[in-house]
Amino acid sequence: METLGLEAIRDRLSAAEARAARTPGSVTLIAVSKVQPEERVRAVLAAGQRIFGENRVQEAQARWEPLRAEFAGVGLHLIGPLQTNKARAAVELFGAIHTLDRLRLAETLARLAQERGRSPEVFVQVNTGREPQKAGCLPEEADALVARARALDLPVRGLMCIPPEGEDPVPHFRMLRDMAGHNGLDGLSMGMSGDFEAAIAEGATHVRVGSAIFGARASAPPAATGA
Ligand SMILES: *Cc1c(COP(=O)(O)O)cnc(C)c1O
Repeated sequence: METLGLEAIRDRLSAAEARAARTPGSVTLIAVSKVQPEERVRAVLAAGQRIFGENRVQEAQARWEPLRAEFAGVGLHLIGPLQTNKARAAVELFGAIHTLDRLRLAETLARLAQERGRSPEVFVQVNTGREPQKAGCLPEEADALVARARALDLPVRGLMCIPPEGEDPVPHFRMLRDMAGHNGLDGLSMGMSGDFEAAIAEGATHVRVGSAIFGARASAPPAATGA
């Protein structure tokens, strides 16, 4: 993945909004800082970026508790799978959780939200490619999970997907948009470094861009089991 840097990504995002006749500034850029060295993250903070995505709860805590003391206004989004036993730490750290994919997790998040009197926004993650190794509920399970999460008073912001690698992502973006539409949701978390412009053309409201901003990650993040 080519590294373009924050400025170039912002320019491309604005151009994609304009091409899709979207309101300027309506697409949220989540800078995915997982596994990136701290000096790269600091440079992006210094350039004014304040919304960041992380895929593991403990790693995010270790990094962001000190950085938040230094930089005001940081918002964190969890984009990796969430184990129920890390839900408490997650709701304290993150303003949005993009990976709600099962009823048990919805129940835990709702209980924590009630205790605290507030909740992160949630996105229901849908495994649009039906990949066995990938998190997310199956497409046919999404309506019921959205309905249950709402019944539990969770603030459901929208749907999220990660299309299968090496496939045209556009049919997946469209499937997600249609599912969101018939659930009365307008939040769509879709699009990464290689396809965020295509995602914006299909209605993305939140794009999750890592390597194109920060550069290649040193190693693949650990298997998606231990958020
Ligand atoms: C790592 C990751 C991203 C960012 O991927 P890039 O290709 O580096 O932009 C986006 N979404 C999720 C869920 C991720 O795990």
